[in-house]
Amino acid sequence: MRAKIVAGNWKMNNDKDESKELIKDLKKAIKKEGLKNTRVIVAPTFVNLSSSIKAARKSKIEVVAQNMHQSKNGAFTGEISADMLKSIGIKTVILGHSERRTYFNETDVSLAAKVDAIIANDLETIFCFGELLEDRKSENHFAVVESQIANALFHLEADAWKSIVLAYEPVWAIGTGETASAEQAQEMHAFIRSTIEKKYSKKVSDKISILYGGSVKPANAKEIFSKPDVDGGLIGGAALNVADFTGIIKAI
Ligand code: PEP
Repeated sequence: MRAKIVAGNWKMNNDKDESKELIKDLKKAIKKEGLKNTRVIVAPTFVNLSSSIKAARKSKIEVVAQNMHQSKNGAFTGEISADMLKSIGIKTVILGHSERRTYFNETDVSLAAKVDAIIANDLETIFCFGELLEDRKSENHFAVVESQIANALFHLEADAWKSIVLAYEPVWAIGTGETASAEQAQEMHAFIRSTIEKKYSKKVSDKISILYGGSVKPANAKEIFSKPDVDGGLIGGAALNVADFTGIIKAI
């Protein structure tokens, strides 16, 4: 069975105390609701990773990073390496978020190198991709998504896919309040799974958790998560509020 995952991407929000407070509240809510069968993930900003890991102790909350540089070390001012993340206990890293692609010029090629660093370091990645509004309007969304996955991930050996979680995030739905319909999400997730099956095998594609991201809220989560190829969500805005985030986890 595929892992069900709800991951909160906090982006550049929450200082040290706010991060600890949110994790404390989330711990309480998870305990109260007994949310056993889902991986619950939060991604605070780099400087708050250590304190967040400490705050999440004795709970099922996994603290992950929002990005990572592909090099081992060196003259890369402002960047963070796999070794640095591992040294504080990080096991998972989000890569390829549309904001990284848009504002920091990340490309399929640079992301392929980051994914290689993930695999070489025995880390896991939540790998994000998704089409722009213009791609959907011109009905190029399947081709765009296929090329994003192929360019960044199809050089991997089948075995490496155990370290990959996919997050389909149509850019037009991120932070806009406009979400893909459950049918649109299912259609794309099924396409992604079949693309992986064609390249690798059913055994590989069946095991890949594919998360949906883009304005997921407690009110729409249940319908989206009810679809057979949607294995959870990557949540932005609603992950900053404990009631909303817990509502989304419960929806799974
Ligand atoms: C995101 O940034 O990954 C995201 C899905 O944001 P939001 O939920 O706010 O649309």
